[in-house]
Amino acid sequence: MSGIGIGIVGAAGRMGQMLARESRAASMRIVGATEAPGSAALGKDVGELAGLGAIGVLIGDDPLPLFASADVVLDFTAPAATRRHAEIAAQAKCPMVIGTTGLEEEDLDVIARAAQHTPIMRAANTSMGVTLLMSVIRQMAASLDEDFDIEIVEMHHRLKVDAPSGTALALGEAAAAGRKVKLARVADRGRDGLTGQRKRGAIGFAALRGGNVPGDHTVIFAADDERIEVTHRAGNRAIFARGALKAAHWIQGRKPGLYSMNDVLGIAG
Ligand code: NAD
Repeated sequence: MSGIGIGIVGAAGRMGQMLARESRAASMRIVGATEAPGSAALGKDVGELAGLGAIGVLIGDDPLPLFASADVVLDFTAPAATRRHAEIAAQAKCPMVIGTTGLEEEDLDVIARAAQHTPIMRAANTSMGVTLLMSVIRQMAASLDEDFDIEIVEMHHRLKVDAPSGTALALGEAAAAGRKVKLARVADRGRDGLTGQRKRGAIGFAALRGGNVPGDHTVIFAADDERIEVTHRAGNRAIFARGALKAAHWIQGRKPGLYSMNDVLGIAG
C-alpha cells in the first residue's frame, strides 16, 4: 500500500465508481466519498456501490471533512460542483485532480485561483493515449500549413450532457497552439443549414452521440488529394481512472500550481 488516502467526490457517478474500483489496483485507500445533496447514494458504502464489497466508507454530502482528511481528492462531477470543490481544496490546502469537463472561463478562473494555494492537476482527458495524442496533434498542426483543414470528430455514449467533448476541445486547443492561434478565433462548432464555405484556417468540430461508447476522437488533416486521420478509441472508462490515479500519486508533495497530464507523464507540451 502506498498509504495515499484518496477522497472521491461524485462517488456514485460512472467515473466515481470506476475510480473506486481502480484505486485497489493502484494500492490507494479511499478515506472519504461524497455525492450531491439529495442523491439516492447518500449513506451507502462506496465499495459496495462500486462492486468491491463493503469497505466501511459511507457516502456523505459534506465535502469539507473530506478535503480536510484526504491526501488528494479526485473530482469527476459537474462544473458548479467542481468550482465549489476547488475553493474548498484551496482552503484545506488539499491537492486535487479534476477530470470534470464542460468548464467555462469563470470555472477555469476559480480553479486557477485555487491552484495558487494547492497543487491541482486538471485534464479533460486523463488517459495516457489521449495525453500523447494531444502532443502529436500539436506537432502535426505546427508542421502542416493551412492548406490542411483540421476537423475533429468525436463520439460518446447517449448520456453525455456536453458537446463537443472536453477532449475534442482540448485536441482543438492543441492544434491551435501548434498553429500559434487562439482556438476561440478559429473554432467552427455545430454547422447547420446554409453555413457558407469553410473558412481557411478554421478548426471544425462534429459531435456524435449514441450507445455506450466511452469516447472516440479523430483528428483529420485534409488537404487537396491527401488526408491524415489520427484516432484514439477508449475501450473502457478504466483508462481515465488509471490516469487520474497516476496523477493523484504524482501530485503528492508538489508545490501549489496548475498541472496537466503532460506534467504527470513527463511529456513536453
Ligand atoms: P456522472 O453523471 O455519471 O457522474 C457525476 C456524478 O457527480 C453524479 O453522480 C452526480 O450526482 C455527482 N455530483 C454532482 N454534483 C455533486 C456535488 N456537488 N457533490 C458531489 N457529487 C456531485 O458523469 P461521469 O460520466 O462520471 O462524468 C463526470 C464528469 O467527468 C463529466 O464532466 C465528464 O465529461 C467527465 N469525464 C472526464 C474524463 C477525463 O478523462 N477527464 C473521463 C470521463 C468523464
